[in-house]
Amino acid sequence: MPENDCLFCRIVAGGIPATEVRRTDRVLAFRDVNPQAPTHVLVIPIEHHADLPALAAAAPEVLAELVAVGSQIARDEAGGPFRMVFNTGAEVGQSVFHVHGHVLAGRSFTWPPG
Ligand code: 5GP
Ligand code: ZN
Repeated sequence: MPENDCLFCRIVAGGIPATEVRRTDRVLAFRDVNPQAPTHVLVIPIEHHADLPALAAAAPEVLAELVAVGSQIARDEAGGPFRMVFNTGAEVGQSVFHVHGHVLAGRSFTWPPG
């Protein structure tokens, strides 16, 4: 069920505009409003799940589809290499509690992350 107070459920429903890159029955990809790389796309399940472990437990096939869609976008836009980040918990930077994979591509990255 969509959650009324969830920003990404509202984007899925079209109540908040976003620049969509891909949409399937189960997955939506749209551009991050504050991009950190030439390609910075958020890939989310249509159905609300709070975070990565919740999605993995409830619908592992949808998680696999998130990864497939993210990697396809990186291939199309940046030739292949990408970093996919799932911030999990407010302490490590999760600010929206509808699971999302950040697909970052199109430049080089340092390690470890900040
Ligand atoms: P988190 O901090 O939860 O890992 O990532 C949330 C991401 O959502 C941030 O990178 C932020 O820029 C992005 N974001 C927040 N609000 C909006 C919005 O209204 N539209 C879009 N397209 N991205 C958003
Ligand atoms: Zn949601």
